[in-house]
Amino acid sequence: MATLASMIVAFDADDTLWHNEDQFADTHRAFEALLAPWASADAVDRRLFETEMRNLSRYGYGAKSFMLSMTETAIEISDGEITGDRIGRILDLGRAILDRPIELLSDVPDVLDALAHHTLMLITKGDLHAQHARIAESGLADRFWRIEVVADKNRATYANLLERHGIATDEFVMVGNSMRSDVLPVIELGARGVHVPYHVTWAHEADHADHDHDVPRLERLGDLPDLIAEWT
Ligand SMILES: [Mg+2]
Repeated sequence: MATLASMIVAFDADDTLWHNEDQFADTHRAFEALLAPWASADAVDRRLFETEMRNLSRYGYGAKSFMLSMTETAIEISDGEITGDRIGRILDLGRAILDRPIELLSDVPDVLDALAHHTLMLITKGDLHAQHARIAESGLADRFWRIEVVADKNRATYANLLERHGIATDEFVMVGNSMRSDVLPVIELGARGVHVPYHVTWAHEADHADHDHDVPRLERLGDLPDLIAEWT
């Protein structure tokens, strides 16, 4: 690709700029404990994941969808025996996810400072209301030229965003923790993707097609400015 003076550098939010999936993992453990009278932890996790996948096209991504999927799974696994008290505790688990204070990953403000001469974007998927609230709470909104909350992040989503904002593929790079959502779709469009794995990955995001792309992978977000400097 051509060398450019500056690029459009787009960031994913959850598990790229701030912690997210670690709490979902903790919530899974608490949910398993609530359903222990009826099923093993493995069986609970398997049924919950099946319910989430079944509901994805109906409810979309995010904590509210997760609360509904946990509730449905609990009713199914307990064969309707689960009490209102336990359903209440499931709702508490979901509310705790929504109410969690934003905790930025290390290096985030420094990386955004180091890249401030580029044009920065934030592209996140999920529940519109919840994601806008988190972005506001992060204090990072002013750093970004454009902020996009989308229902899903696939090739069509990115093609639409690039066209709408008048961005050429060779000036665009997307940075995120999910190969499925942040990296592969943009590489398939001819733009650049950078994978910065988080220490926990939701099974759905971990499940992506085999590919032959040579994807830059960074141990930490702090290594991003040097990589972008090689391209500009
Ligand atoms: Mg993410």
